[in-house]
Amino acid sequence: MRLLTVTTAVLCALLFVQAGRAESPDAMPSIEHFNPEQVDKSLDPCTDFFQYTCAKWVKANPIPADQTTSDTFTKLVIWNVAALRNTLEDASKATNRTPVQQKAGDYYASCIDEAAVNKAGIAPFQPTIDRIAKMESKSELPEILASIHQMIRPANLNFIDAQYQGVLFGLYSSPDFDNAQVTLATIDQSGMGLPGREFYLNDDDKSKGIRDQYLKHIARMLELSGETPAQSAADAQSVLGLETVLAKAAMDIVVRRDPKNLNNKMSLEQVQALTPSFNWNRYFTAMQVPAAPHYLVTSPDFFRGIEKLLSSEPIDHWRAYLRYSTMTLMAPFLSQSIVEENFDFYGRQLNGARQLQPRWRRCSLNADADLGEAVGQAYVAKYFPPENKERMLEMVKAIETALHQDIDAAAWMSPGTKQFAHAKLAAQVDKIAYPDHWQDYSAVVIKRDDFFGNVARSAHFEIDRRMAKVGKPADRQEWAMTPPTVNAYEDAQTNTINFPAGILQPPFFDAKEIDAVNYGAIGMVIGHEITHGFDDQGRKFDAEGNLKDWWTATDAANYDERDQCIQEEYTQEVPEAGVKQNGKLSAGEDTADNGGTHLALAALQNTLKAQGKDLDTAAPDGLTESQNFFLALANVWCGANRPEAARTAVMTQGHSLNRYRVNNVLANMPEFAHAFGCHAGQPMVHANSCRVW
Ligand SMILES: [Zn+2]
Repeated sequence: MRLLTVTTAVLCALLFVQAGRAESPDAMPSIEHFNPEQVDKSLDPCTDFFQYTCAKWVKANPIPADQTTSDTFTKLVIWNVAALRNTLEDASKATNRTPVQQKAGDYYASCIDEAAVNKAGIAPFQPTIDRIAKMESKSELPEILASIHQMIRPANLNFIDAQYQGVLFGLYSSPDFDNAQVTLATIDQSGMGLPGREFYLNDDDKSKGIRDQYLKHIARMLELSGETPAQSAADAQSVLGLETVLAKAAMDIVVRRDPKNLNNKMSLEQVQALTPSFNWNRYFTAMQVPAAPHYLVTSPDFFRGIEKLLSSEPIDHWRAYLRYSTMTLMAPFLSQSIVEENFDFYGRQLNGARQLQPRWRRCSLNADADLGEAVGQAYVAKYFPPENKERMLEMVKAIETALHQDIDAAAWMSPGTKQFAHAKLAAQVDKIAYPDHWQDYSAVVIKRDDFFGNVARSAHFEIDRRMAKVGKPADRQEWAMTPPTVNAYEDAQTNTINFPAGILQPPFFDAKEIDAVNYGAIGMVIGHEITHGFDDQGRKFDAEGNLKDWWTATDAANYDERDQCIQEEYTQEVPEAGVKQNGKLSAGEDTADNGGTHLALAALQNTLKAQGKDLDTAAPDGLTESQNFFLALANVWCGANRPEAARTAVMTQGHSLNRYRVNNVLANMPEFAHAFGCHAGQPMVHANSCRVW
């Protein structure tokens, strides 16, 4: 699953990413609209277009104390979360509630009651501590681990959502790479508290400093769980040692990008042979995983690494590891001192946030994470105008048409490969705003006075739901994001593109704006997701979502040559992050950014042509249509990160930072140079401009 931008589903992100200033809890924050006057006319658009468009925006929108980023995405998240809060408060106070309102309202009420949560202290987590403490033999691990995996959010069991954070390994269901009609139980690497394996293995001073801080954090958390200072200091060493072995065994993040490296189907006997000391049959039984001929093991070496740990680490190291790693995932739902300690490391140290965001915002985000499709119903009813769906669909169709035309025009592709590409594009399912059928949460018990229990029961329900899919065909209508999410994704195995209602608001989608502005903003996002189906990894999947090569050798070689240009262009120093970007890691996202922009512009051109206009026609604001397009595009990427957050982002995930999502793309486009009168030799005109789609 490829996302538009950093997902807000990451557990620790819930604590700090979308924080806001101390506005009155009753006021809705303002929503932004495109404003071409915001540019800094003292700057030359051909030198640094991001700076030209965004310098004033960045100055006017400093990063608030409880944020790690200030950009149009996070501003819209803040608006959406305030909208959510309104619906949740209504649901918590209403009388004669529907079952959906009861779940959403009582969940929120249980979370917002900070006094009750603080009074409970560590108590809700104590049974888990006790169970781990009583573990006498490593042979008890399957059942203990299963009880933990049924309590933590399933997002923490899924690599894509969770990066690495989880407990020992991840478990989820995903379509068989060779046959999307069958869903497999999948086990994956996980169980590390730092954001990537490099954080354990790199030897530079910055990495060592982070590990020192992490060690102290682990010890403080263990102390908060009731250990003595001496015990917690010793246990922290054991935890870091164990996680470091996991990191060494884990598959490299670039190697993971290629689906064929993840496609390791194994029988239960073969899985068992990877880790003879861990009884998988008992674990799968405890997790209610339906028996199946095959399981997907994304990184077999990782599980061989677990076997080594099972023989090398004494039982007390395992107890310490389970206690810490489970507690860190449940920390946001415990009392204030534990929440603060968790935020201090993940928010402050690792990402540069200065303070925790207000509780009402955390509670709204938690409700969205745990009961998303219950919470989302009132949100879309109140805040998403149905007519937006129609105009959105029109744009999606226009951009798909532009890709059909682009495929036809590609001189480097043979007719046979083109035919497969057209068929794949035609089979893509376009999902807009929210699901046609809402998920049924009637089996989840939500109590008004039990926040921790509500989180744990929601998690248990969700992992059961995921495991129940094993053996069945992939459901193409299901959503992996909740309606208020400000993001979008493409899923190669269901061949779908998905745009939640949360991103279909200004400045991304603005019903009052001209086509040029909407195509530059949300149109580029649509084009980005469509292009993912044809990026360096997406192109390996066919129309049915199967990993099946439909390229001739010559066409594939031609593709790789174009891809190589993108990889080299984006292998670049990122001064604001203090690290070098790896173009091999970000190639798919960069291809989607470039392709998406080309396709959105081509779709705009087609739309204007039907109206007797072209890209050079003057729009009502006096700028040309294409100038409006490029300014609106850059505008939605305006923003800045704290250096800590920028470093973590460049090191651990595939998206380029916003500045490069604008400048690198536009400098590849002659249409941009034409629109702003840029000429060869200027920074915004690449001598060797890359183009895949
Ligand atoms: Zn993407």
